[in-house]
Amino acid sequence: MKKRFGISISEDKYRVIDELSRKTNTARSLIVEKALEAYITAIKHKAEKHDCCGLIIVKYKKVSEEEITRKINKELVNAETHIHEGEVCVRIAYVKGSSDEIEKTITNLSSLVASVTFVPLD
Ligand SMILES: [Zn+2]
Repeated sequence: MKKRFGISISEDKYRVIDELSRKTNTARSLIVEKALEAYITAIKHKAEKHDCCGLIIVKYKKVSEEEITRKINKELVNAETHIHEGEVCVRIAYVKGSSDEIEKTITNLSSLVASVTFVPLD
């Protein structure tokens, strides 16, 4: 069952949602609901300690591989790949373990590089 309630969002976000709605022929409500789902998943990952798995994606340049490796808790990593595109490196690690250890690794990496993304898969 759907609940209806009024919300206020910035005009720029409204325009983005409206444009996406027209381009993808998707109801604005569904776009907002899917965005909320992703946000809630990310917040719950941080708010509640749990066993977790997901992808840590690190994009960087002019940082040595060794420095990156030192920031990652190796016990969490199940698989890893590394992609080079010109000067830019992308490292993708499939991690599994406690959410607080994953968060520590993300915080450690964030102190070194500008772009760290975690995609929870739980
Ligand atoms: Zn999680």
